[in-house]
Amino acid sequence: MRADLLALQESLLAEGVHTVLAQFTDLHGVAKGKFVPLAHLQTLAESGAGFAGPSIAGTGLPRTGPRSEYYGRADLSTVRAMPWMPGYARAVCDGYVANEPFDACPRQVLRRQLARLSERGWQLQTGIEPEFFLLRKTESGGIAPADAQDVLDKPSYDLKSLPRQRDFLNELSYGLQACGLDVFQIDHEDAQGQYELNFLHADALRSADNLMLFKLAAQAIAEQYGLLFSMMPKPFANQPGSGMHFHVSLWQGEGTDARCLFDDEKCMSHFVAGVLAHSAGLAALAAPTVNSYKRLVVGESLSGTSWAPAYIAHGPNNRTALVRTLPGRFEWRLPDAAANPYLATAALIAAGLDGIDRELDPGVACADDLFELAAPQLRERGIGVLPQSLGEAVDAFEADTVLRAALGETLSTQFIQLKRAEWISYARHVSDWEVQRYAALF
Ligand code: GLU
Ligand code: MG
Ligand code: MG
Repeated sequence: MRADLLALQESLLAEGVHTVLAQFTDLHGVAKGKFVPLAHLQTLAESGAGFAGPSIAGTGLPRTGPRSEYYGRADLSTVRAMPWMPGYARAVCDGYVANEPFDACPRQVLRRQLARLSERGWQLQTGIEPEFFLLRKTESGGIAPADAQDVLDKPSYDLKSLPRQRDFLNELSYGLQACGLDVFQIDHEDAQGQYELNFLHADALRSADNLMLFKLAAQAIAEQYGLLFSMMPKPFANQPGSGMHFHVSLWQGEGTDARCLFDDEKCMSHFVAGVLAHSAGLAALAAPTVNSYKRLVVGESLSGTSWAPAYIAHGPNNRTALVRTLPGRFEWRLPDAAANPYLATAALIAAGLDGIDRELDPGVACADDLFELAAPQLRERGIGVLPQSLGEAVDAFEADTVLRAALGETLSTQFIQLKRAEWISYARHVSDWEVQRYAALF
């Protein structure tokens, strides 16, 4: 056996690991995988675990023949024992088909965009900030916040409900730290039952892997505490939704020699301009569900207090803008908690590189509170609105050749097909709101 594999296997054994959770991520950003006994780690790394391709959302494979077989090959640098699941280690897998990297595997899609950066000697750092809800099921089959019902005004940073969930939060934080994530803050957010956990930024591939690990850990631990962990973007109409902001910086070189390219304002402004220019198409990937657009809605009295972006603008430390610029980095506030972190990052890179290559101009930096500006003032400043529905966002993605090329034809076609079907299924649905509003009216 290869020396590196043997050493890894022995150290895992010493930690009490007997099984590897071979995990990959489907098009929807959902973790999928298999249990593989530790003794088969070498096969998992070299040939991979086999999956029926057509059963995986987004594979776009034929249903029969050798190309219908999807293999997840373990990336050994990701293998970590999971303290919340004693005896099990997680390994992130890359998708392969017929012994070739599978072009529509979200992790491979991101790898391709990272390779475009490394051709220029660049690398991207991202810090992904997940917001999430802790819920419980109600007797009528609905959902309710697990906590903070007694905080009626603004539960942000609430110190009654945060300590009540400390057992769950500590176990989550400890588990992630044991897996190498540097957890540095946890708070109660703006909505009842809503929290945010922050871990340190890393290179973009690692950050996406970390986010998926966060989801796995939070789901498993919440279940142990009888809680429902949810990254649904907007579970309650009258409460803020869950964003998943990305802090983004571009670097030249590696390690101690690395230099932040965004210290050069021109470079950052071109990148940001690309992100703004492609915002409508990016929305399909960063806000990929029907529900996402309840978070990004404009003109609602709540939008001013929900801190979710609605307008395509940037501004220094402006939390009301889509892009909040900071020294040497920017915060991309569009993504919500349902975004597939690999696809959102890949599309972000493609948009940013397009901005750099075409030397795009992001327009004037906006210092105003955008939620306070009326439509004519927004128009005067040339500020556009984000798509207001999944249908609109999917159309914009379909029309965006830069983003589609970055994601590749197989994935793009699948994505458009699945997301359009999701939108149409919703559009056909007649809701209680409509019945209440219209049934007796006409
Ligand atoms: N929950 C807000 C969102 O949906 C963000 C709040 C914050 O800035 O932390 O983006
Ligand atoms: Mg937050
Ligand atoms: Mg943030």
